[in-house]
Amino acid sequence: MKDLQTVLRSWEAVIGLEVHTELTTLNTKMFCGCPITFGAEPNTHICPVCLGMPGALPVPNKAAIEDIVLAGLATNCDIEQRTMFYRKNYFYPDMSQNFQTTQGPVAFCMRGGIDLEVTGPASRERTELEGTSELPESYAAEGYLTHIRITRIHMEEDAGKLVHIGGIDGRITGSDYSLVDYNRVGTPLIELVTEPDLRTPEEARLFLQKLRQIYLTLGISDCSMEEGSLRCDGNVSLRKRGETAFGTKTELKNMNSFKNLHDGLAYEICRQAEVLEQGGTILQETRHWEPAAKLTTPMRLKETAEDYRYFPEPNLAPYNLSDEFVEAVRARLPELPDQKRTRLMENFALPYVDATALAGDAELAEFFDAAMASAQTENAALAKPVANKDLAKPVANLLINDVSAYLNANNTSLNQTKLKPEHLVELANLVAQDAISSKQGKEVFARVLETGSAPQEIVKQEGMEQVSDTGALEEIAQGILKQFPDKVAEYQGGKTGLIGFFVGQAMQATKGQGNPKLINETFVRLLDVKD
Ligand code: ADP
Ligand code: ZN
Ligand code: MG
Repeated sequence: MKDLQTVLRSWEAVIGLEVHTELTTLNTKMFCGCPITFGAEPNTHICPVCLGMPGALPVPNKAAIEDIVLAGLATNCDIEQRTMFYRKNYFYPDMSQNFQTTQGPVAFCMRGGIDLEVTGPASRERTELEGTSELPESYAAEGYLTHIRITRIHMEEDAGKLVHIGGIDGRITGSDYSLVDYNRVGTPLIELVTEPDLRTPEEARLFLQKLRQIYLTLGISDCSMEEGSLRCDGNVSLRKRGETAFGTKTELKNMNSFKNLHDGLAYEICRQAEVLEQGGTILQETRHWEPAAKLTTPMRLKETAEDYRYFPEPNLAPYNLSDEFVEAVRARLPELPDQKRTRLMENFALPYVDATALAGDAELAEFFDAAMASAQTENAALAKPVANKDLAKPVANLLINDVSAYLNANNTSLNQTKLKPEHLVELANLVAQDAISSKQGKEVFARVLETGSAPQEIVKQEGMEQVSDTGALEEIAQGILKQFPDKVAEYQGGKTGLIGFFVGQAMQATKGQGNPKLINETFVRLLDVKD
């Protein structure tokens, strides 16, 4: 098989995603009062309604409707105030009522879209853009901006879980028997469907990542791909470059991580190219991505809407959401990652890359804002106040690099550390005021993370304070110049590179605690006076 980069030179990939998200932050299921939990004893959170017992009547969960409207507003969808639920009929033991309650042609959220910034190495999969940059220059050195339309976001209920015993990897093939756990039945799910606007596996991955950030910011789901609260199917087809008609697509299931989504699509693109180049045809089918074997295998031929015999759910009245309802939800919209990035760039002059990194992580961004708010008061107490925007960059760097690395290494989260927002500002200030070098700053910060002590305290304890007393430094410098009269002569004869030698001597004399910048300045000042 050819590699992706080669395939994409002659073929254009067309990708559309279907993203299922469980509304895990709700207390109860979609149509009954059973609690929503993960990992409970099987079949302990069930009732006649979610089991679909004859005569049991569903009552819609208003908070779930608020959540989907929130998701729609955050992704620029039109909110359809008049919609209804349908029955999607099927027979399979994961749903004992034998139908799934879902939405028909008109969903709560229609015709939305989000902008996608593709930067860095991810942009290289767009081979037709080779050597060009379509991003505003402030964004990044390489990259482009694309818009992905969202067809709809509709509401449906989740099915139960089948556990296959005795097979390989928990799959049904070869298993002896299967168990059913209905706890998950009736958990509210929102399904987002994109238009086929994505063109590379990287775009698909970035889209899903961005959507996850939006949902996390909204607080409507924990969006865990491992636990299955965020699941994604990838639809992909190929067409010859320059053609406008779409090819036949296949649909990939089991995309339970960002990497799987990317790698599964990349494999499928290469597989389809090979079939097409050998004169074969692509069957419209559902395929299973097997990450370990690195290939996709057919699961079933695609079923059509008729197979499900959709019809309006007779037990649920059609909706007519009021303007007040929609506006009340709109008023709850938090600052979204894109808005956050723009604000960070405008208010703190942060570069695009840093602002994006912070805006993409709600916890880091909140910490950053708290730090910068504390900078106002910190600064007022300083003899030489540092401008807010000069602190913003070092504070952002600490969060994006040091803090993130620490959190990853210790598998923990910010609110579980002893770090306080003020600590970041204090540390950035110590470096900005030349009280300690930036190298020492790193050491101090490691101690702050470990101990929770304030940077000032650590600097004092460790006797790290840089000697920034100009009088003292000048005395030391004079001493060194006296000690090396021949070097002074050489310097003054034009060998100005010797400045490094003098600074080195002074650093030794101060046991590494001299402020190198001040020492440098002092020597230049003293040496340039010809006597
Ligand atoms: P189906 O009827 O097979 O479910 P839909 O039209 O509902 O197909 O689309 C399902 C998903 O597949 C959407 O995300 C859509 O963007 C995508 N899609 C549709 N046609 C194509 C195609 N030819 N190639 C790639 N993706 C496609
Ligand atoms: Zn129930
Ligand atoms: Mg469809």
